[in-house]
Amino acid sequence: MKNLWNDDTAEKLVADYAKKGVGRDLALRVYTTRLLGGVPQLVLHGGGNTSCKIKATDLVGDEWDVLCVKGSGWDMAVIEPQGLPAVKMRALLKARALDKLADEDMVALQRANLIDPSSPNPSVETLLHAFLPHKFVDHTHSTAILAIVDQEDSKPLVKTVFGSKMGYVPYIMPGFDLAKAAADVFDADPTVEGLILDKHGIFTFGDDAKQAYDRMIHYVNVAEEYVAENAKPKAAKAALPAKLATPASIAPMLRGAVAVARGEGRFDRMISDFRTSDAIVDFINSAAIADYAGRGVSTPDLSIRIKTGPMAVPAPDADKVGDYKGVIKSHVDAFAKEYRAYFETNDALDDVKRTMLDPMPRLTLVPGLGMFGHGRTLKDARIASDVGEMWIEAVRGAEAVGRFHPLSKADLFPLEYWSLEQAKLASNKPKPLTGQVVLITGGAGAIGAATAKLFADNGAHAVVVDLDAEKAAEAAKKAGNNSIGVGADITDPVQVRAAFDKAVAVFGGVDILVSNAGAAWEGRIGELDDALLRKSFELNFFAHQSVAQNAVRIMLEQGTGGVLLFNTSKQAVNPGPKFGAYGVPKAATLFLSRQYALDYGTHGIRSNAVNADRIRSGLLTDAMIASRSGARGVSEKEYMSGNLLGQEVTAQDVAQAFLHHALAERTTADVTTVDGGNIAAALR
Ligand SMILES: [Zn+2]
Repeated sequence: MKNLWNDDTAEKLVADYAKKGVGRDLALRVYTTRLLGGVPQLVLHGGGNTSCKIKATDLVGDEWDVLCVKGSGWDMAVIEPQGLPAVKMRALLKARALDKLADEDMVALQRANLIDPSSPNPSVETLLHAFLPHKFVDHTHSTAILAIVDQEDSKPLVKTVFGSKMGYVPYIMPGFDLAKAAADVFDADPTVEGLILDKHGIFTFGDDAKQAYDRMIHYVNVAEEYVAENAKPKAAKAALPAKLATPASIAPMLRGAVAVARGEGRFDRMISDFRTSDAIVDFINSAAIADYAGRGVSTPDLSIRIKTGPMAVPAPDADKVGDYKGVIKSHVDAFAKEYRAYFETNDALDDVKRTMLDPMPRLTLVPGLGMFGHGRTLKDARIASDVGEMWIEAVRGAEAVGRFHPLSKADLFPLEYWSLEQAKLASNKPKPLTGQVVLITGGAGAIGAATAKLFADNGAHAVVVDLDAEKAAEAAKKAGNNSIGVGADITDPVQVRAAFDKAVAVFGGVDILVSNAGAAWEGRIGELDDALLRKSFELNFFAHQSVAQNAVRIMLEQGTGGVLLFNTSKQAVNPGPKFGAYGVPKAATLFLSRQYALDYGTHGIRSNAVNADRIRSGLLTDAMIASRSGARGVSEKEYMSGNLLGQEVTAQDVAQAFLHHALAERTTADVTTVDGGNIAAALR
């Protein structure tokens, strides 16, 4: 572990913050907090915390001794001074005399003593920071430290590795009791430079920011060196199939298996993030991987991310990939069953009212390939993968010097179901399309881009496919929510397949198809060049078939239903003069939509069409509007609003119709008209 302290950078930050009225101590607290937070081997995504004891003035000018401690919801890597709320020390120190303090009361006490009442909640480890006398206190969940403390009998090993300079605190759940126990260990020997918390992590402290940070890096290095020098030979490897299936071929099966069934064909889906490297595969290929996974998480706060631990599945044989769906399903079922038992057993121990979280794994280890992080959003799935990488490091280290023996699941339970965490989760309401992936063709056009944005705003991740890769990327960026752009000529089946492969690689699968791309050619049908009509069929019919086929292939692997949505245009039901080259294939596409509804309804796959007309887009440009309205002797406005409602219809209106179809769970084989009312094109 490298010591990243740099005098010049530190002084520059102090000078920059001085201009904003932030004092030297708090500026340096921000500096080393970021140094620690930027190293995944120390802390991950909101884990860990730091503090410093300074003076602060309240609104009426009274000066207080305060503890500036990391606030909940802040990530150490990007902390700002306001991420370290100031709490009055006097009340915190008085709390040490109490015999007990409930979690809710502890939070209330901390909040009641904030200098700024709009601050985030101070860390759950606030009291531990307060009870230690040092000006600077640093806390991480270092993987090297976890290798030492995740042992059945870690106390003698801690003594061997760290000697008497570090205090040893037996495992207690974070909160008041842990703070008191840690302070007692310190008081018993105030010469220690830090504390090792069994099954949890490490605290170091110092009189200044550099001393506390230097000690953290030093003791992490001591642990790393011990592991390196005392490592046993690596464990035996599992036998792998001669030919492994690809991650893309198993991702949709896995994504389907971990979706939470809500009954009657409804699912809460997850996004899967595939992660691999030589180090990941080398570890996951161990013959004992299922055993390691079953033992649990390397430090308790990981349970918020990967529950009771990862799920290991067998390596997928390329020659038996058809059977693999059943293999995955049986492993997910077993994981969920065990999770339910874990909940029921531990929940029954007291009469606290708890709601069970979904029982699905958040991290799947696949020998030979790598691992999949699962989450309701891509961000959560990636966090699960990040956590997986650090779990591997800690377990590898623990197995190298002994036997990985983390906190028992019974002791983990109160933390996973900590009342304040549960309240946080309950307030985190999903959006209507959270967990779903939508692939949109013609995605950079007016309708496609509006649809991508609307779906992303409703929680979906969009895969924006367009002939123009750059514009696709631009539309995806505008849509937001980690949407991606893919350049593809969808009249080429190879490129269509590649676009779907990309969707699977990034998100794990596809749930909604918006088959929207199209182009119009003019000419009287009897005199039409045959090649032109065929060209139109390629884009306005066969490309729809090609994308629908790929979507259905993935949806069947997932087994969680899905929606196919086709932009068929008013031409499909009401031909316009000289528009046969466009209307005839669109009419075929309308029937294509119905055919899919008929053939795949039993698999929960719905298929609907949107029949839009006269939308400003690449098909109906401003120049065309000017020319057509001029030819008819009406204003552009009259031309665009020439419908029963007398209102212009926009790309946004079409996007709304697609969204309606994505959400209308009992609607299939339907056509929705978005044309402001055109009685000649009204469907029977
Ligand atoms: Zn901690």
